[in-house]
Amino acid sequence: MKDTYGREISYLRLSVTELCNLRCRYCMPAEGVCKKEHDEMLTEEEIVLAVETAAELGVTKLRITGGEPLVKKNIVSICERTAAVPGIREVCITTNGTRLPELARPLREAGVRRLNISLDTLSEEKYRYITRIGSLNQAIDGIEAALDAGYDKIKLNAVLIGGFNDDEIAPLAGLTRRWPVDVRFIELMPMYDSGDFGPEAFIPCERVLQALPELEKESPDGGVARLYRLPGAQGRIGLISPLSSHFCAACNRIRLTADGKLKPCLHGKAEFSIKGLDRDGMREQFRTAMLSKPEWHGELSYQNRSQAGRNMNTIGG
Ligand code: SAM
Ligand code: SF4
Repeated sequence: MKDTYGREISYLRLSVTELCNLRCRYCMPAEGVCKKEHDEMLTEEEIVLAVETAAELGVTKLRITGGEPLVKKNIVSICERTAAVPGIREVCITTNGTRLPELARPLREAGVRRLNISLDTLSEEKYRYITRIGSLNQAIDGIEAALDAGYDKIKLNAVLIGGFNDDEIAPLAGLTRRWPVDVRFIELMPMYDSGDFGPEAFIPCERVLQALPELEKESPDGGVARLYRLPGAQGRIGLISPLSSHFCAACNRIRLTADGKLKPCLHGKAEFSIKGLDRDGMREQFRTAMLSKPEWHGELSYQNRSQAGRNMNTIGG
């Protein structure tokens, strides 16, 4: 269905857990998250019902995220059941990749077509720093397992952080020569609790264009990224700029958190609960949430932080 600004809402980003096996500094606090009561979170049945309801209202694309979706015990079953919902044409997952060595194949067989895998650095030491507990090798093994499993598309997402990985733009972009993947640089967003980062960390994606003058422009593919390619590379380079040039006018998304809150906008306060509702109740809440989408998320910068009042792991990035 259309929202009040005429945008067709066709994309549901579904968070299946707030938990994660990493602790990225821009995403969650060092101590992890305070585990919520089981009965506060959506059950698998509620997740499937929510996806059916969303599909009836015109959602065709589903992205499963978190927290880390691959730490969820029933993730394969969730993917299989949601991919089978009539009207859902594509199920994608955003993951840190560390559990892909075991799960890349079962998820592909469950109907997942595309993967976005997060990778902010190619240095083992810096990977450990940014994730606080992770190992780069595990993430690389995950990417290789995904490449072997035959996905339609794999994208690597790097959050661009001044003073951390702005000296790695060329090697990260160079992965599009090594593998048939797209690499996307995403501006760091000032969430509720990203106190580890000062103003110098928030740099615009234009920095990528300055670092790689050889980039050739590619035509847009309907997504939110501006697209380029290194000469001769297998994959493209995408720039996603929520701060320096927001893409709200083309936003076709609605979000559902793992604790059952529909969020019309990633950076807005408004939330509509569907926990415990039947099909009719859910449909009403989906309609209300879609009609509450704001025109844009407002100014976002180091000084003007996201109004979401949640960290990214509890929303679903
Ligand atoms: N755990 C999975 C992962 O890391 O890909 C999925 C959830 S994570 C919240 C989704 C995406 O949000 C990741 O690509 C992560 O880098 C990004 N993200 C988290 N916090 C962010 C922030 N403050 N600014 C920009 N991107 C952020
Ligand atoms: Fe976990 Fe993803 Fe957040 Fe990193 S960005 S802490 S991997 S949920």
